[in-house]
Amino acid sequence: MSDSNGPRTLPTLEALVTLCKRRGFIFQSSEIYGGYAGFFDYGPLGSELKRNIKDAWWKAMVHEREEIVGLDSTIIMHPEIWKASGHVEGFNDPMVDCRESKKRYRADQLFFAPVRVDGETIGYVSVEESGTMQAEAEEKAAELKRKQAVQGTLEPLELRDYTEAEPEEYERIPSPATGKPGSLTAPRQFNLMFETRVGPLADASGVSYLRPETAQGIFQNFKNVVDTGRVKIPFGIAQMGKAFRNEITPRNFIFRSREFEQMEVEYFIDPDDETWPRVYREWIDTCKAWLTRIGIPADMIGEDVHPPEKLSHYSKGTTDLTFTFPFGTQELWGIACRGQFDLSQHQKHSGKSMEFFDEARKEKYIPHVVEPSLGVDRTVLAVLTAAYCEDEIPNDKGKPEKRVLLKFHPRVAPFKVAVFPLLKNKPELVESARTLYQELQRKWNVAWDVSGAIGRRYRRQDEIGTPYCVTVDFDTVEKDQAVTIRDRDTTEQVRIPLKEVAAWLSERIEA
Ligand code: ATP
Repeated sequence: MSDSNGPRTLPTLEALVTLCKRRGFIFQSSEIYGGYAGFFDYGPLGSELKRNIKDAWWKAMVHEREEIVGLDSTIIMHPEIWKASGHVEGFNDPMVDCRESKKRYRADQLFFAPVRVDGETIGYVSVEESGTMQAEAEEKAAELKRKQAVQGTLEPLELRDYTEAEPEEYERIPSPATGKPGSLTAPRQFNLMFETRVGPLADASGVSYLRPETAQGIFQNFKNVVDTGRVKIPFGIAQMGKAFRNEITPRNFIFRSREFEQMEVEYFIDPDDETWPRVYREWIDTCKAWLTRIGIPADMIGEDVHPPEKLSHYSKGTTDLTFTFPFGTQELWGIACRGQFDLSQHQKHSGKSMEFFDEARKEKYIPHVVEPSLGVDRTVLAVLTAAYCEDEIPNDKGKPEKRVLLKFHPRVAPFKVAVFPLLKNKPELVESARTLYQELQRKWNVAWDVSGAIGRRYRRQDEIGTPYCVTVDFDTVEKDQAVTIRDRDTTEQVRIPLKEVAAWLSERIEA
């Protein structure tokens, strides 16, 4: 969130969730049945916002790149694919249960520390991962000391996640749900893939999975694209679509859900040692540039380079582009150098060659791959966070009034423009406004609003992020054949001849 002049202050997640619900961006799925954890629906405005983000990505990654082609593969694929990719064996998160409250935690998101007073451990505290967990844990430690009436100085708390706990500590660490020790289980691996059954047989032979990433759909079609697409190394295959993960603790609104969408590119390159570092860097920069293109300020994006010891055995490098969400700085976009791992695995498991014949070098090889993988829903949340803004502007009577606005980049705004007749009961105004509305509708999604004072109508559009409002008034039809266009961010108004409106808007919306 930025207010018009001052420094950036982030909106709370609650402010975003409330606005999204109130204005029809995002709803909890199955709300009339009490909701369903980890699932969200996009309403009339949210579906437009999401579609615009996806279109902008496809345009930048596929249409504007000669060497990248698109793909749309199935969600359910041959189960062998997930054995080859390593997901059946290893797509796990460590899970821990609280036996008393029946709450379930991801062990790597549950933090704990021994509480020491003058070198003596008086107990343990635990907190769930958040931007404020250190302060929260310190408060709990002070409370524990008070309760036990221990004298002395509290030592600084060193939080560790539960996967790092020693077995003898399990019994001593309190469950965050109850505050009492003794009810947390040891961590155990939980596979995040949703299982389903394909075909009429109820036995294990029909077990299949909902894809947990779109990437494997690309790898299993590598040969098809090479054989039909006239592609030359380097080239990319892009895909967007649903992915499913049975997250242990879906949370932070649409940041971590169980059904979400991904936009991924698998970019195939020469397997020599010089190519990947350059392509890797290029992709990091390309991804950052695209985020600014959809209105995410560069100062909200960071780079988190994974240290070598955290990389998977086949990976040469991974960098996450992070974003400052209301709940802390977190991964938005993962850019990973995956080497030959995926294609080699599919070659091994399918028995089909995944080699590429390089005409120029007259050589066959399995290419390396660089994979930028982005969540659509996390991007929607980042766009909303960056756009949310509160300021004060004069109301109809000239009195300062608080206003909430979404400063969307026109490229992603659900409505690009709104058209209003000044009064709804003057047919000549309505007719002229309607004609303009229909003309603009041929190019963009346009809002139409006839009810209430103009100031109120502006405010309604501000809150859903419509960059421009056009008002048809008496002068339009009686005098100058011109209209007033009002800018969402500055609230400034200009008078533009009716016949120039489309071109005027086009210049600004499509810039
Ligand atoms: P995390 O560590 O946050 O679980 P990850 O490293 O497992 O994420 P990847 O497997 O790299 O994520 O997935 C690529 C992208 O897909 C992520 O950067 C994110 O934008 C998105 N994504 C992954 N899991 C989810 C989810 N549960 N809900 C929404 N988006 C997700």
